[in-house]
Amino acid sequence: MVQRHRSIERLMELLGRLPGVGPKTAERFAYHLLRIGRDDAIAVADAIVEVRDAVRTCSVCFQLDASDPCTICADETRDRGIILVVEDPREIARFEEAGWRGVYHVLQGRVSQLEGIGPDDLTTESLIARCKRDVVHEVCLANNPDLEGEGTAQLVAERLRPFCANVTRLARGMPAGSAITQLSKSILADALDGRRPLQPPG
Ligand SMILES: [Zn+2]
Repeated sequence: MVQRHRSIERLMELLGRLPGVGPKTAERFAYHLLRIGRDDAIAVADAIVEVRDAVRTCSVCFQLDASDPCTICADETRDRGIILVVEDPREIARFEEAGWRGVYHVLQGRVSQLEGIGPDDLTTESLIARCKRDVVHEVCLANNPDLEGEGTAQLVAERLRPFCANVTRLARGMPAGSAITQLSKSILADALDGRRPLQPPG
């Protein structure tokens, strides 16, 4: 077999570092980039350089934006007293759509014993520093309601409690529009735990 050019090997090695890309996929991507026109291949390379130069990590909340501090941290109309903690910057867009008016803190991951990631490998220290520096009356941990998300929330909450008296977790329960007969036992148990007073209309 003819030896591959070292530039192809290098491209495959770099593509293989992307999340979820194994050696076979890296090889497929590399050969695809060789097949497409030179202009298209260069457009991909340029787009990578452009996004690296244009997008920065906010030094306050660790979300990705064109400016540092990010648009949300710089917005005077946001309630800086309530911090919603997420694992990944992509989750912020969903909470924005849902109408959140507080600020955020991105943990940049989750605690994982398997991968050797502890709470100190996340941005927990910076979150504690924010609680010490600013007037924060609530930190809500919006980690995913799965095993690793719950574990991460517990460990981050432990670290936070000496610096913030009000550490909360997102409510869990029945999705709107669902039917009780179709819901799992754990969703119903959460819904029972999370009962709240029924407000009169208006
Ligand atoms: Zn920010």
